[in-house]
Amino acid sequence: MVSQRLQAVPPSGTVAISNLVSEMKASGIKDIISFSVGEPDFTTPQNVIDAAIGSLQKGFTHYTPSMGMPELRKAIADSVKAKNNIPCSAQNVLVTPTKQAIFMWALAYLDPGDEVILPDPSWVSYEAVILLAGAKPVYVPTYFEDGYIINPDKVREAITPRTKAIVICSPSNPTGAVQPESVLKAIADICLEKDIIVLADEIYEHVLYEGKHVSLASLPGMWERTYTVSGLSKTYAMTGWRIGWLIADDVKSINKLQSHSITCCTSFVQEAAIEAITGPQDAKEKMVATFKKRRDLALDLIDDIKGLECNRPNGAFYLFPRYSMDIKSHDLADKILREGHVAVTPGRAFGPCGEGSFRISYAASEEDIKEGMGRIKKVLSTL
Ligand code: GLU
Repeated sequence: MVSQRLQAVPPSGTVAISNLVSEMKASGIKDIISFSVGEPDFTTPQNVIDAAIGSLQKGFTHYTPSMGMPELRKAIADSVKAKNNIPCSAQNVLVTPTKQAIFMWALAYLDPGDEVILPDPSWVSYEAVILLAGAKPVYVPTYFEDGYIINPDKVREAITPRTKAIVICSPSNPTGAVQPESVLKAIADICLEKDIIVLADEIYEHVLYEGKHVSLASLPGMWERTYTVSGLSKTYAMTGWRIGWLIADDVKSINKLQSHSITCCTSFVQEAAIEAITGPQDAKEKMVATFKKRRDLALDLIDDIKGLECNRPNGAFYLFPRYSMDIKSHDLADKILREGHVAVTPGRAFGPCGEGSFRISYAASEEDIKEGMGRIKKVLSTL
């Protein structure tokens, strides 16, 4: 009964593991340490929670305009213009959950037969939404030895007359790599020359420890061809609130899809989002500083595990260590979960170049990082 379109797509690898962890916990296995789903372990800052409660209490419980509340669109545009140097204003902002933004972007801009370039490895759902839109994902390999920085020559080699778009996620899920400005400029030149549009996923833009975050839409000539998505989930520990945005020269076409699907984002969540963006930022800064400490701790612990090596990524809260044992990453992740009770995501879920690696989300307490890495070490020592 299921459509052919859906049959062509596997379930989300990241969400599947997080569901499996919840099931195992519900069945009584309580000591599972989760390094799987990319979700800050902090609670949303209190000022944001208070704003949502205040909004509910005053009865702000109805639809908003489908594009989002005007005050929120303006707050997003002001902050993105100032921080990311993207020449946007409120009318360029569509308020929508970030994954929904990616989904709608694919439906709005891809036709059957179009090709979309994806750095390999890439977050699991890009491939799925491209396939659901009837288009074809084309992987461009990136390598451990290069710190997973994209080689623009490889991008050029992958272009055909059917290439419509390229997806860039920086800081990257799953590797944490932050693409340098020179690489982004080279990619921008290719897009301008070959008339290619860009989906720039900047959801980890604030989780940055070293280096500089550059928005593709800020580069000369790129504004008209770049669709920038981001949101509050990772920056303000607001994963459960489901709120983000898409910024582009034209958001009206995508809004057509929003109006036929979710209509608008949750009203009181939008009011809370205004507080998150315009209110005090100290909680956010504290979280990023904590993530950095955890990254360094996890890297030190990996150093001590035989057969495991890892780059030092500049952003996001993921490590993507490579292992030397002769086992598929799905089987290894399964073994680590069943024997060590630690959930990691198999590297292959992120593309062919992910084979031989697994993803660790270190958005977990220091105690869990120490315990979890110790258990991983133990499981790997049996191989
Ligand atoms: N983006 C996060 C991850 O990769 C959350 C789950 C998902 O959306 O895939 O773990």
